[in-house]
Amino acid sequence: MTRLYLSTTIPYVNARPHVGHALELVQADVLARHHRRIGDEVRLQSGTDDNSLKNVLAAQREGISTKELVNRNASAFASLREQLSLSFDDFIKTSTDPRHRPGVERLWRACAASGDLYRRDYHGLYCVGCEQFYTEDELADGTCPEHHTRPEQVTEENWFFRLSRYASRLRDEISSGRLRIEPASRRNEVLGFIDGGLADFSVSRSVQRAGGWGIGVPGDPTQVTYVWWDALANYVTALGYGGSGGDYQRWWVGADRRVHLVGKGVLRFHAVYWPAILLSAGAPLPTELFVHDYLTAGGAKISKSTASSEATDPAELAGTYGIDALRWWLVRDVPRVGDTDFTVDRLIGRANADLANGLGNLVSRIGSIAHQYRNGVVRPCSRPEGTSRWLAVASDGRIPGGDARAVPWPADAADLRATVERTPDAVRAALARFDFRAASAAVYEIVVQANRYVDATEPWHLGRAERAATVSRGDGAAGRRLDQVLGALLASCQVLAGEIWPFLPDLAARLAAAVDDVGGRLPRPRPLFPRLQVSERGYAAVAADAGIRNEVA
Ligand SMILES: [Zn+2]
Repeated sequence: MTRLYLSTTIPYVNARPHVGHALELVQADVLARHHRRIGDEVRLQSGTDDNSLKNVLAAQREGISTKELVNRNASAFASLREQLSLSFDDFIKTSTDPRHRPGVERLWRACAASGDLYRRDYHGLYCVGCEQFYTEDELADGTCPEHHTRPEQVTEENWFFRLSRYASRLRDEISSGRLRIEPASRRNEVLGFIDGGLADFSVSRSVQRAGGWGIGVPGDPTQVTYVWWDALANYVTALGYGGSGGDYQRWWVGADRRVHLVGKGVLRFHAVYWPAILLSAGAPLPTELFVHDYLTAGGAKISKSTASSEATDPAELAGTYGIDALRWWLVRDVPRVGDTDFTVDRLIGRANADLANGLGNLVSRIGSIAHQYRNGVVRPCSRPEGTSRWLAVASDGRIPGGDARAVPWPADAADLRATVERTPDAVRAALARFDFRAASAAVYEIVVQANRYVDATEPWHLGRAERAATVSRGDGAAGRRLDQVLGALLASCQVLAGEIWPFLPDLAARLAAAVDDVGGRLPRPRPLFPRLQVSERGYAAVAADAGIRNEVA
């Protein structure tokens, strides 16, 4: 059993969440659920970065207090837990959580005790959008590479962190793989940055420029801690690092894996600054960073100004098209490397193809045939080696049943059986390299093979042949064959419900119920996923009828 501490970044809350935030949250949730399912000990951490200067500026633009703006937007992020069926164990709000400030202060004092903090004058080019100083050669034509705006020339006295001391240790941690950065191209990017020379960096700013918002530097009332210091610290402050620290010992020091999911825009902070701060403080480093790229919307960068639009608001998208449709697109269509363009058409296309047609049709065919020819009583084939069926969310036990009465697998279902058997390993291997698309594709392969098997065996013909044979007193070969075909399909779908659960927990629960034979009889078939169709008001979910194909009727 592995003890796994898993975190998302904490977004600043100058606006409502957009679909790009949903990507990282859903990826983290899939990992957390997967590891819980295979018996690992997991803590999934998320939260909001309330102390960002960007929040102060956004509140000024709206003419409301920073506190009001932060509370409103932070609650929109916290609400995603229900709106996207996320399973984080803890959510830290950095402006109000009583665990945060003492943790930030303790981290500061630990680095000060190592002699790594000092004061000096700083002249620099500062991008307010990034809350980051840039050197001339990092700029693109004199503008911020992220915001394409001209940075301000700033001079003030700040506290600095002696990053320069840690270059060789950081290099060693990363190149040895003790701090694993995925994908490899991002690791190389970080190593290149380190080899270019690490300059000490500013870790505070004047109270004045911070607008009185943020966490004060211990012992220096004129300065507040740089927002990145404050935000990065959340990974340990949420574990009580500044207090009694029981969770910190258990989930940080004592974890086998400390995994941060981060976007490419904050790579340097997580792969260089954060590990250096931890080295200085004498704390263990994260073991892994997974760096995802960005979503665009309709070909354009998703900006905070468009974030509230219906087309990219994850709560709106999940409300209109369903949590399953949104989660499935995020895991199934977003590759491990490269930006991906999000459109509602793509979300709908993927949901209809895979969930309404592929999976929905499979399950309704099995249910209809089972009820038409077996009164709902079907015995599943034995579960292939290494697979498990539905594992309930609340209980950690496997639901018994099925195997004692299992029928043998028919020879012509060898491909389907092999697919089912290799799925758990395929999912495990894909998620170990943070490849969500490959993992969801591996799960979906069961649907593909099962539908192929239905098409090849035409069980509705077997049912009719059995009835004809009964009338003419023929032998029962067609009936025995129908039992085998249905048994293979039922066993496959029972494994599928468990395997798809980390990706689509809601749909998995409906699927598990639809193929549950524990009571001796399958429930009457009901639509598993509504087909999404264009209506006059745009797209809408349309409940499919049983969706059964004509051949069965
Ligand atoms: Zn910028």
